[in-house]
Amino acid sequence: MRKLILSAIAAVFVTLIFAGTAAAYSAENSAYTIEEVMAMTEELANSEYYSPELCMRYLEYKQQRIEVISYTVVKGDTLIGISKRFGVSLATICESNQIENPNFIREGQQLQFPAVSGLLYTVVPGDELAVLAEKYEVAYEDIWFANSLDSEELTPGSILVIPGARLPDPMQRATSLSRGISKVNYGFIWPLRGGLSSYYGLRRGSPHRGIDITGPVGAPIRAVADGKVISAGWAGTYGYRVTLQHKSGITTLYAHASKLNVALGDRVKQGDIIAYVGETGNATGPHLHFEVRVNGRHINPLTCLP
Ligand SMILES: [Zn+2]
Repeated sequence: MRKLILSAIAAVFVTLIFAGTAAAYSAENSAYTIEEVMAMTEELANSEYYSPELCMRYLEYKQQRIEVISYTVVKGDTLIGISKRFGVSLATICESNQIENPNFIREGQQLQFPAVSGLLYTVVPGDELAVLAEKYEVAYEDIWFANSLDSEELTPGSILVIPGARLPDPMQRATSLSRGISKVNYGFIWPLRGGLSSYYGLRRGSPHRGIDITGPVGAPIRAVADGKVISAGWAGTYGYRVTLQHKSGITTLYAHASKLNVALGDRVKQGDIIAYVGETGNATGPHLHFEVRVNGRHINPLTCLP
């Protein structure tokens, strides 16, 4: 029923636009008489579903689709700068591109975001329009009209613009993810110095069992402590990875390397170069994915890095 109402309203909008452009609502050029158009406008305005303000907004969507901006990061860009240039919120860019740390972007990185503040969302199996609307605190109809939908069936992989989506403050989130962590001292050093592009914990609903440290391809990755190499080689989505066994049941894992510098069974000292940064396996851009386990259980690596 709701779908029918939406379709009917879409038809009215098309008519309104047509009527508006065709010689000032000339009855001859319109499928509807001016009286009919006026009556429909009034009906819309008085509808229990749509406020006049919503009607205007939907009319705008119909006149002009929300553009999706594709932008390639150049040297000197900051996300704040890009967001100001395009007049959208920082959260719009961060959330549309799954950027967890707004302080970090790299040259050549491809960004896509809607031309209005909101979210560029890729549909996953099981998504429902009403659930998305509730999750992002927007009107169901906003998503419907902004994307010129004609069915409630969402196709996985298709891209939706969710205008006005309520998004977390990226600066606040990055801070809360990196602070307030109680530290444990295992005497580690950083395996690589670089920006943190992803934190430990839930990432888009699935667990991220380590942290991502960015660095150029070929930058040295160092052992965080003395240890023994218990795995070194190709490991599917990890790409080339090394695992070290340290004392007290602690192991560390280093993934997505371009090249390994150690072999199974080698003994390493803290600071030894064990591999080089790459983007092998499931990685978007060169970085080190670093994990720490204590007695087989993952812990947040930031708790034990100085
Ligand atoms: Zn990672």
